[in-house]
Amino acid sequence: MSACPRPDKDVFPSRAVAAAVITKMPRHKRVGLMPYRCRCGQIHIVRRPLVAWRSEP
Ligand SMILES: [Zn+2]
Repeated sequence: MSACPRPDKDVFPSRAVAAAVITKMPRHKRVGLMPYRCRCGQIHIVRRPLVAWRSEP
């Protein structure tokens, strides 16, 4: 396994656990959050930028 590029992030034992944590968050806090597998072999939660579907003035 490689060293984690984001050691400051929380780690989860599986995607299912990370997904459950996201589900328990208040709706406004979990917008855009998703679990992903890091190259360190563990699961982190990242926030996707919410831009693509938005039309700016
Ligand atoms: Zn990592």
